[in-house]
Amino acid sequence: PFFKEYLPDDLREFPVLEAKLNANENPYGPSPMGLEALKKSAAGGNRYAWKELFQLVDKIADFEGVTSKNIMMGPGSSDLLEKTAMVLFMNGGNVVSADPAYMSLIRVAEAAGGTWKPVPLKDDWSHDLDAMEAAIDEDTKLVYICNPNNPTGTITDSKKLLDFCSRVSEKVPVFVDEAYLWFLEEGAKHSMVSLINEGKDVIIARTFSKIHGMAGLRVGYAVAQEATLDKLQKITRAGMGISYPSVFAAIAAMDDEEFLDSSRTLNAEARTYTFESLKAMGFEPVPSYTSFMIFPIEMDGKAFLSQMTELKVGVRAFEFLGKKWCRVSMGTLDEMKLFTAAISKVLV
Ligand code: PLP
Repeated sequence: PFFKEYLPDDLREFPVLEAKLNANENPYGPSPMGLEALKKSAAGGNRYAWKELFQLVDKIADFEGVTSKNIMMGPGSSDLLEKTAMVLFMNGGNVVSADPAYMSLIRVAEAAGGTWKPVPLKDDWSHDLDAMEAAIDEDTKLVYICNPNNPTGTITDSKKLLDFCSRVSEKVPVFVDEAYLWFLEEGAKHSMVSLINEGKDVIIARTFSKIHGMAGLRVGYAVAQEATLDKLQKITRAGMGISYPSVFAAIAAMDDEEFLDSSRTLNAEARTYTFESLKAMGFEPVPSYTSFMIFPIEMDGKAFLSQMTELKVGVRAFEFLGKKWCRVSMGTLDEMKLFTAAISKVLV
């Protein structure tokens, strides 16, 4: 695997950015209803949110059409991805995923003693489901799918994926990371959650960090079979990691339809602007279905990042599939204008 990411040497020295477009955060968040609930509940921070957490769990179970026993909360979905990797790979084994993919679960699987079996995305940027199925062997402990995918921002047809997950999960659990689902029109139609009620061994991860604009408040959840969650909960009481006010913020944010709709619309506007501006400058951005976009660059990743950072624009740089790439998160339109101005200075 030649997946490589360039990161600043020292995050503490990370400069002040005028356009922070490097972590796929929602520039409009937190959801106003979530923020109001957060403020009101902050004084309860002397208590553990045991009882209140169940209100959130019940609300999520209702929303997803599953029982509360199918839900596991975490301080962000990172925690659930990483804990899953620790539990499943502490005795070795391999994880099959696309290349490139979101690396958090894979890196922890490797650190715990597992290996990564990467399967390149197809030319149309969708998962190569046939090749992934063929890559499963007797050591495979998990298949990891990120749909829509990060860092590419691209999607795999949900009907094909549903069929794949339904069949493959009979052999090995399938983890589907749906962090960016709600940036799709009618996101629910693309989810794999319906497989839970069919008894399939799939684990679906969701987060309040993206469309709800709550990345810093740290709330995420997994939907899975009770028996699977029991295994994970042996080493973690992940809900204990969520702060009392964040529980209330998440409960309220779920009802903030107006904010969720406007985040989706404004994100799509920023995406159109960015795509067209990059095209006009001669780049070839990959059509995105998420809150970020990639395009190939010809400059060394480290030099590129440092020049962009000097112009106070934060982005990410990757190397995969034999090319160098910039990944830019969708900010406000003003931030995207700073980004395109910086790109025209650094790359054009
Ligand atoms: N999954 C994907 C695909 C992501 O891109 C991210 C964050 O960027 C996460 C999971 C983790 O987010 P969080 O821990 O904030 O829920």
